[in-house]
This record gives sequence, structure tokens and C-alpha cells, in this order.
Amino acid sequence: MIVRRPRFAMIKRTVNSLLMESGVFGPAVPVEKIAEEAGIEVRYGDLGEISGLLARKPGITIIGVNVEQPNVRQRFTIAHELGHYLLHEGLGEHADRDYRINFRDSSSSEASNVLEIEANFFAANLLMPEEFLERDDAESAIEDDQGVADLAAKYDVSRHAMSLRIGKIYGHLRPF
Ligand SMILES: [Zn+2]
Repeated sequence: MIVRRPRFAMIKRTVNSLLMESGVFGPAVPVEKIAEEAGIEVRYGDLGEISGLLARKPGITIIGVNVEQPNVRQRFTIAHELGHYLLHEGLGEHADRDYRINFRDSSSSEASNVLEIEANFFAANLLMPEEFLERDDAESAIEDDQGVADLAAKYDVSRHAMSLRIGKIYGHLRPF
């Protein structure tokens, strides 16, 4: 599959309809349940260096999650792999070693980076939908550590992920 530029608008639409179909109207988003509803089996194990993986086999698709990592990280991993599953049809077996939430530059032209940027953008949108953040007045937490911590707890994501998300929506950071 060739994706030259991250398809941000399409991904937002995909996430919004997924949330709608799943009947999720507020945080924390039940990401494992959403993956299971998409027909995926979520399995947990000690994957060593690997955070998560997606394996499509005949008749079954599995998301593997590294159970040794913090719960908020596991949730992000499930969302990231679900993103690969829904967005990247041609991707067969895929393992994510150390994808970082805010890692690559969106101007990157390397195809594999574009897929990772898309999967991360999908995950951030799924776990922290803009509409939910609006309702929670997340903008007022931009420079408020406690506000970020409270939102992170409410959305069941890391503080790092929440502060990036808020910065990207309301600040001057570039989108993923
Ligand atoms: Zn990935």
C-alpha cells in the first residue's frame, strides 16, 4: 500500500464513525471493546522490546499487547494497532517496537513512517476525541499541569499523550 501523506481528515472521519457505531459518547474510550467489536482478538503477553503487534491470519486477526508496559500505554498500543488494521489493509504481520506518541515529523516521506504517523494519529483521535476535549474545556489546561493530569486520568491515557494532544489541538504544535 502506498500512502504518501498522512490522511488526517479521512482518519478523523473514520474515528468519529467508529465511536458513533460503538455508542461511545464520552471518556474513557473502551478501546479493547471497540477492537473486539471489529472482530479482533486482543491478547496480552510479555513481548520484550515490542509494544504491540498486529497479526492477520486466515479467519482471525490478533492484536498482541505487551502486558509489561503501563496500562495507559497498553491502551494506546491497542488503539495504534487498531488503526493499522482499519487503515492499512495491505499490512500483514506488523510489530511495533518503540513507536513514540510524538515521534516523527509529518513531512517525512518514508512510507513506513507515514503508516506509523497515521496509526498514532488514529490512536490519539480515538482515545482523546476532539469533541470530548471541547466539552471538557481542555483548552484551559494548556499550561496547567494539574489540569492535564486530571484529564489524563479521566481519559485513561498518559499525561504525556494528553499534553501533546491538547498542544496539538489548541496550541501551536503541528498535527501528527
Ligand atoms: Zn505501528
